[in-house]
Amino acid sequence: MKKTFVTQPFLPPLEDFIPYLQKIWDSKIVTNNGPFHQKLEEKLGKHLGVKHVSLFNNGTLALITALKALGITGEVITTPYSFIATTHSLWWNNIKPVFVDIEEQSFNMDPKKIEAAITSKTSALLPVHVYGYPCQVEEIQRIADKNNLKIIYDAAHAFNVKKKGHSILNFGDLSVLSFHATKVFNTLEGGAIISHTVEMKHHIDNLKNFGFRGETTIEEPGINAKMNEVQSALGLLQLKFLEEVIKKRKNIGSKYFDLLKNTIGIKLLKINKNIDYNHAYFPIIIDERLYGNSRDKLYNTLIAGGFYGRRYFYPLISNFYPYENLPSSNTENLPIANQIADRVLCLPIYPDLQIKDVEKICDIINDK
Ligand SMILES: *Cc1c(COP(=O)(O)O)cnc(C)c1O
Repeated sequence: MKKTFVTQPFLPPLEDFIPYLQKIWDSKIVTNNGPFHQKLEEKLGKHLGVKHVSLFNNGTLALITALKALGITGEVITTPYSFIATTHSLWWNNIKPVFVDIEEQSFNMDPKKIEAAITSKTSALLPVHVYGYPCQVEEIQRIADKNNLKIIYDAAHAFNVKKKGHSILNFGDLSVLSFHATKVFNTLEGGAIISHTVEMKHHIDNLKNFGFRGETTIEEPGINAKMNEVQSALGLLQLKFLEEVIKKRKNIGSKYFDLLKNTIGIKLLKINKNIDYNHAYFPIIIDERLYGNSRDKLYNTLIAGGFYGRRYFYPLISNFYPYENLPSSNTENLPIANQIADRVLCLPIYPDLQIKDVEKICDIINDK
């Protein structure tokens, strides 16, 4: 039986990529802020409508470096409803994660829960634009300003997303993107930090290059998190296909929405009209009226039909080692997140997914 997975990386035609590789082979410049790297930073900045882009070899090292760049220590308030890398970036910086619950509608960190979690040790907020749907950025900024906290957004899902026509990446002190193969825009592996001043960009660029400032000075102990020229070149080529990629994702998302909007027992993510969405994911929340409240039953029924959804995000980060015994990981502290994690299923969505497969998936869900 044909297997359809939750996602499949978009890759441009190989023959289009060969000339880029030829240039790299001819010049022998393969990494270290080469010409493709510089060009991709410039093009991404323009395309996304942001001031400064620092490319990274993956999103996790970009998150770890973003926390270092702002000198974050002590405690950071974050969400348990995300990919594990969000919280691991804190662990790698010796920072204690403090989890707060999420909103039922958006699956994002609930701003109303933040202030009660602030202590004298809190230095920053680390919210996630889950599934690419924007957090309540104005409200989060207000709380951060009032309490003198920095904000780093994990924007790994939020490539190209705008709110009221403005890039969501311009909110907070820094935003972090992932260009992993599974994401809307990919360089196989890759990532970036979006910053708002040239000083901060230089600081971040030094940190990702061992901490070197010039040839003979170390600014502070850095790491090696540079994106290479092959990844950068692929990114430049991917940008040419982006519009088409998002259009195809949108078609698939709209088809799912039409076929599932009247299904009893399923809740869908509603995209507010002022959001330009990237259709990164198609999550559904299953309640007791469908499949006797068993998400896993539907998950396995779909697998039996060859369709591999993913239970993003289950288990919650707060239920994984080494975070499960933190005081804030308590189920009573995170009722909504626990409920959603037990009921969510992300359906396959990627540019080359066929509409007839979307129809088959919905037929199984609708039990036709
Ligand atoms: C993918 C992802 C990351 C990590 O990115 P990598 O590029 O795979 O290291 C971080 N946070 C979230 C929410 C992600 O989905």
